Amino acid sequence: MTTYLEKPVFVTQPFLPPLEEFQPYLQKIWESKVLTNSGPFHEQLEIALAAYLGVKYISLFSNGTLALITALQALHITGEVITTPFSFVATTHALWWNGIKPVFVDIEPETFTLNPDKIEAAITPVTTAILPVHVYGNPCKVHQIEKIANTHGLKVIYDACHTFGAKLDGQSIVNFGDLSILSFHATKVFNTFEGGAIVCHDENTKQHIDQLKNFGFTGETTVVAPGINAKMNEIQAAFGLLQLKYVDESIKKRKEFSKLYNNLLVNVRGITLMKVKSTLDYNYAYYPILINEKEFGCSRDKLYEQLKRCNIFTRRYFYPLISDFPTYRALPSSATANLKTAASVSGQILCLPIYPDLGHDNVEYIVRCLLKSGKR
Ligand SMILES: *Cc1c(COP(=O)(O)O)cnc(C)c1O
Repeated sequence: MTTYLEKPVFVTQPFLPPLEEFQPYLQKIWESKVLTNSGPFHEQLEIALAAYLGVKYISLFSNGTLALITALQALHITGEVITTPFSFVATTHALWWNGIKPVFVDIEPETFTLNPDKIEAAITPVTTAILPVHVYGNPCKVHQIEKIANTHGLKVIYDACHTFGAKLDGQSIVNFGDLSILSFHATKVFNTFEGGAIVCHDENTKQHIDQLKNFGFTGETTVVAPGINAKMNEIQAAFGLLQLKYVDESIKKRKEFSKLYNNLLVNVRGITLMKVKSTLDYNYAYYPILINEKEFGCSRDKLYEQLKRCNIFTRRYFYPLISDFPTYRALPSSATANLKTAASVSGQILCLPIYPDLGHDNVEYIVRCLLKSGKR
């Protein structure tokens, strides 16, 4: 029997540790009166995250978007950058805020990530970099992209906002590319309320990034670059240290619900599940499905509306495509003919709720409502 949910279920719900465990951190901040500017918690979190992620250098940011914008500044990216239309809009906005022209390239049908076979045709004399996204935490074809970048002298900056903690062949995915960008927004696998980071590979680059996020200061009176204020504050950093203690457990629970969805949906006609490679140690950040209207018996948008009536709030990540937003629509690379796979996926994708406190009953309820919508 299908009962109506008393509380709405959203696509995600942030994980919060027990409140009393945060109190001692606040106590310390109140005692020290150090609120920001690379305070002790900021320094501790950088060390802890570098260890957890298996990376050498990480710079914390107030959010992922400022980290993206700063990453492009740090590598002096100009001209044109090849990127994907199938992402959160901040990926392309970061280019726009740097006066860089985005050039959209189509995605792959199974992983939803930038299609490397289509990159070279989009390179022009003013192309300086590639900005791919590890969509839903699914890694891009990193080795092929690296090869193309090396051949053409391009930088690679990964929007790794979905990929916290995920590993490919045992290697942290944020280690690929010249830089990788993380987001610790409330909706992500690891959150500091808002927050973000840049992962880099050498000390000089880290130093430069740290200067850029603090107005370009290198000392009390020396400003070496036109920096911005993108620093992570002590409350965020302290919260991150506490969150880190729970993140493995969070991912484990996500995995459980993901497996349950898989079991319940694997044989449903008209629904395609995301394939996770066997070499991928996945973080279960999202649970996307593709709806084939003809076979399923109901369109993606109709299903989305019907689930709302069951008090289930799924999200159409990523619909519309970034290339369809007014700012970007007139770009030559935004033409639908150039982005056929992205357009098709964007019209069929639906992300079902997944978060550590979701619960088996809710997963089963969501699937029951979903199957009812498919008229079978
Ligand atoms: C969340 C997200 C961002 C932006 O991060 P914020 O921390 O919210 O600024 C950028 N790109 C992708 C793919 C994201 O999911």
